[in-house]
Amino acid sequence: MTSQHVPPCFVRVKSCFQALDPTLLLLTALAMTACARSNRTPADLVITRAKVWTGNPAQAAAEGVAIIGDRIVAVGGVDEIDRWRGPATRVIDAGGRRIVPGFNDAHVHFVDGGRQLDSVDLKDANSPQEFARRIGEQARKVSAGEWVLGGDWDDQRWTPPRLPTKDLIDSITPTTPVFVSRYDGHMSLANSVAIKLAGVTAQTPDPPGGTIVRDAQRNPTGVFKDAAMNYIERVIPPMTPEQRLHAVKRALEHAASVGVTSVQHMNPSYEDIGTYADLANRGELTARIYAAPPETGWSDQAKLGVHRSFGSAWLRIGALKGYADGSLGSTTAFFFAPYTDAPNTRGLLSDEMQPLDGMRARLIGADKSGLQLCIHAIGDQAISQVLDLFRDVAKANGDRDRRFRIEHAQHIAAKDFDRFASLSVIASVQPYHAIDDGRWAERRIGPERIKTTYAFRTLLDKGVRLALGTDWTVAPLNPMLTLYAATTRATLDGRHPNGWVPEQKISVIEALTAYTTGSAYAEFQENEKGTIARGKLADLVVLSDDILNMPPASIKNVTVVTTIAGGRVVFER
Ligand SMILES: [Zn+2]
Repeated sequence: MTSQHVPPCFVRVKSCFQALDPTLLLLTALAMTACARSNRTPADLVITRAKVWTGNPAQAAAEGVAIIGDRIVAVGGVDEIDRWRGPATRVIDAGGRRIVPGFNDAHVHFVDGGRQLDSVDLKDANSPQEFARRIGEQARKVSAGEWVLGGDWDDQRWTPPRLPTKDLIDSITPTTPVFVSRYDGHMSLANSVAIKLAGVTAQTPDPPGGTIVRDAQRNPTGVFKDAAMNYIERVIPPMTPEQRLHAVKRALEHAASVGVTSVQHMNPSYEDIGTYADLANRGELTARIYAAPPETGWSDQAKLGVHRSFGSAWLRIGALKGYADGSLGSTTAFFFAPYTDAPNTRGLLSDEMQPLDGMRARLIGADKSGLQLCIHAIGDQAISQVLDLFRDVAKANGDRDRRFRIEHAQHIAAKDFDRFASLSVIASVQPYHAIDDGRWAERRIGPERIKTTYAFRTLLDKGVRLALGTDWTVAPLNPMLTLYAATTRATLDGRHPNGWVPEQKISVIEALTAYTTGSAYAEFQENEKGTIARGKLADLVVLSDDILNMPPASIKNVTVVTTIAGGRVVFER
């Protein structure tokens, strides 16, 4: 009917006066769509000439994305995206680079992370001498009365591995209090100044869920495990508001630089949430935050009537984080059978789990109030007990889309995988721990238990949903290292280049999906983010190299070129 040369708008005007031929009506409708397009609001930002992995099964691949405000308005080929350009549109030519949805780290300690960026870094201190040297250097930097904190030390890097003692650092820190944590956060070393300030002596008892490491005379050696760390923590001066704001800003900058556009902050203080709220009000957050404060304070949120995932696109609350046990590295993860290398212990249930009835009552109350439960459980018996608790909670309060989460879920008893699936529990896992702990985990728990350790493959095969994260500062925040870890399981010491327990590897696409859609699902946000699709929040990352077309072993060297959060470029290399 229409001539090729007649502009569609003209056809529309003309067709309005024509009769009701159905073919004509169809053509008219198409022409009107074309008209609407040419008159549409131009995009604020378009990214073109890219290889987009959308994560959206309905449209897996594309060449570009158009964004208006904080939302994606189009995903498609170069020509289609080109039509969204207007005079003021910013255009990013990706030059054929890979684009993926922004990474959503389902488990971070964001403020600690930001603080750690400016404090003593002991993670790669490979000997007790180097450990002491760095602490001494930091002690000279801080002002009088200020503590040396942070650290992230790793005794397993020392030959032979052994716990540090205060004697290592007392002479170089005669007046500076020191409390530096192991990288897993489940034990810390205090010097004599700190121990004295805390009033801890040989007579101080071990608290429930905690251990003071002692010498033959029962004197503390300096290492405090789990709940015993509270003895020292309670005398550390609280962060000033300025220090907290600075830490959050450092953490946000770092997140943007590695392509993390959403984080789920486990165990924030209420002051942390207040700082996020200020930044959100000022439009200064560059990563979206879901905050899960301690379950012991569940009634605070319940009293306000806050439910899971309540808030804005930038800051949400309504989740709770609890602890069932400690960590493998600190021999405080709670197992059915004793540790292979420490047969006198099976680990420790956390103080929150003692008595168990108290924990159960709190979780039932919190769930009844509509709050989401995220419980840290690492050892097989701790995981089993949390599954029991979740079963009890569901039974008490009835069926609902509640999305229980077990954080870490490291060492799962073979009998419990099916329960994980049938209770619809999300496994919120940190693959980097596998290549880190994989250096020594077999020594600690033996050849049998490692078969179901960091069992990402089995979890997926059983139909369990995974959410991926790092537990930063326990592991680096950089998602490339997590993807590398999940797909290679190549331990950091180079001793398992083809993978430690290789049958538990997952594919790059599986890991990427868990890191985006999976983490979004874990915070009830899969309709808002996690894929690159029309209508979704414009959170995406341009990568230096194509992680979908390279050997997984090279993924760890890939960097982020551009990070876009809410339609804004928040990082550019
Ligand atoms: Zn954690």
